[in-house]
Amino acid sequence: MTPGCVPWPAETAQRYRELGLWTGRTLDTLVRSHGERTALVWDGGRRTYRDLADRAARLAVGLHGLGIRRGDRVIVQLPNTPELIDTLFALFTLGAVPVLALPPHRHDEIGHLAAHTEAVAYIVPDAHQGFDHRELARRISGPKHVIVAGEPAEFTSLASLYAGPPGSAETGELGFEPPEPGDVALFLLSGGTTGRSKLIPRTHDDYLCNIRLSAANARLTPDDAYLAALPVAHNYALGCPGVLGTLYAGGRVVLTRTPSPDDAFPLIESERVTVTGLVPSLALLWAEAAGWSPHDLSSLRLVQLGGAAVSPELARAVGERLGRVQQSYGMAEGLLSQSPPDDPPELLATVQGRPLSEHDEIRIVDESGADVPAGHSGELLVRGPYTIRGYFRAEEHNARSFTSDGFFRTGDLARRTETGHLVICGRVKDVINRGGDKVPADEVEEHLLAHPGVRAAAVVPVPDPYLGERTCAYIVADGQPPTLAEIGAFMRERGAADYKIPDRVVTVPSLPLTPVGKIDKARLRNEAS
Ligand code: AMP
Repeated sequence: MTPGCVPWPAETAQRYRELGLWTGRTLDTLVRSHGERTALVWDGGRRTYRDLADRAARLAVGLHGLGIRRGDRVIVQLPNTPELIDTLFALFTLGAVPVLALPPHRHDEIGHLAAHTEAVAYIVPDAHQGFDHRELARRISGPKHVIVAGEPAEFTSLASLYAGPPGSAETGELGFEPPEPGDVALFLLSGGTTGRSKLIPRTHDDYLCNIRLSAANARLTPDDAYLAALPVAHNYALGCPGVLGTLYAGGRVVLTRTPSPDDAFPLIESERVTVTGLVPSLALLWAEAAGWSPHDLSSLRLVQLGGAAVSPELARAVGERLGRVQQSYGMAEGLLSQSPPDDPPELLATVQGRPLSEHDEIRIVDESGADVPAGHSGELLVRGPYTIRGYFRAEEHNARSFTSDGFFRTGDLARRTETGHLVICGRVKDVINRGGDKVPADEVEEHLLAHPGVRAAAVVPVPDPYLGERTCAYIVADGQPPTLAEIGAFMRERGAADYKIPDRVVTVPSLPLTPVGKIDKARLRNEAS
């Protein structure tokens, strides 16, 4: 395994192999079956599996020509475009490791990723949603290569790197060794921690297990078409089962320009989309739009709901207006709990599915770390064949986030029903879940404290009918209190992503403290709601 990553104990890994949970296959092979079937559809184009495998192989040769090697980290910040899919498979083929940044990330986040991973390359679009990513790339030091999908300016054009001879995927003569199944295949970003994003190393073996179990649970077949409405760089739309699960099953991946009903619904109709995954805020919008849309959405057979708390009312509305619901609770660190295909409607509305593998070991513990009685709620801990044993280069943080025997502390509060389903009841981690976008409170507080007009700051969630939660910052001002707009401009200047900017700022004379002198966030949360 890559240095800086925590491997599974050898005997556990051996057991996962013997049980067939880890199959020894690598992700690059996913596109090398199903030949002339359509793999990918997007606004104005489509690609067969053969084309996709061929393009990935040719791009892998080009990237190798730049000097990128197996194990090298490459920051990929591409929206849901065919270039993103080519790039992922090219890197898998090469054994280089994509670090999956999200499109809204700016120089604060990307700078951190570049430094932490010592990435050798940074792959960006020329511009996306009015933002020039080449400008951002100019502010990032470290990566030797900036590779641009589109107009490259002074950088390397992605299009120029499809260098290998056509057909190279089939001959297998790529000029480099393929990756090993135990290698890290990709780095996902953690949403649920303190401090800057932690990097989640997913191996070929473990991520394929994730994909395979999720694809089987969704009953994906070559006849399915999955619409990637959410960012593919995020675990949910990438591998739960998402894009990779669909390709594993031989189905079609459909990319939409935006997830709005105006863009997504015509595609659902024309491509006869069968499956998609939504966060609650988007599901609400779609369920409303389905009432007036002229488009035929009847092909949808499964609509995943997850990423943030889903109310029973929303689940029922989606079930009635869009298609059968599958609740999906999970995290980029691993564990997936998704509704089994035979759950009755009442369960689909009220519980967050069941862990996908009988080898997912679940514990629910109280504050002292002791297991709670059956049916009670507590913090959910997990260990299993597709849950990591540690973040990348994060020894200190790992000591807090994992138990000494390898259980991951999810930071979520859950209870387990008699049927083995999970109900997510809240969280202990200091993160705001803003419609599925995770905002670590301490990261925002750090930005706020850097403002000369702010002496103290505490960030808490406030309930929101649309996003589930929004971000509220309590500040103690030093002189004239900064306005919400000033704080927004200040954080943008510091390179924070827009979704991390507080939605509300409340100036107070002092922050309430607990008896031990910590900021009393529980009280602020109550006040804010
Ligand atoms: P990420 O790694 O970005 O997918 O974020 C994982 C976190 O999102 C989990 O630890 C939960 O806090 C939250 N989450 C994901 N799915 C759900 C869900 N169905 N219900 C409530 N919270 C969820």
